[in-house]
Amino acid sequence: MTKPYAAGDQSQAICAQCAKLVPTTFAHRDVPFSDGSGVVRDILAAVCDACDAVVAVPAQSTPAIQRARKAGQDPAARESCPPMA
Ligand SMILES: [Zn+2]
Repeated sequence: MTKPYAAGDQSQAICAQCAKLVPTTFAHRDVPFSDGSGVVRDILAAVCDACDAVVAVPAQSTPAIQRARKAGQDPAARESCPPMA
């Protein structure tokens, strides 16, 4: 699936909070990095309709996550993390 998602789009995903397949709605949220090192502000994510947890982040949001990570790093560290072509 390569079609970009937009806020308000609906899907389904497994919610870790609800422990089941739930309907989701895409919305802009602040999402923590998977390693807990920080938070990406205002990216598009799939949100559980039942409990309002972020259950998935589409691949299209990955560049925004990478930009946020770099912004939080020392500039000297950039060389070890080149931008995607
Ligand atoms: Zn849920």
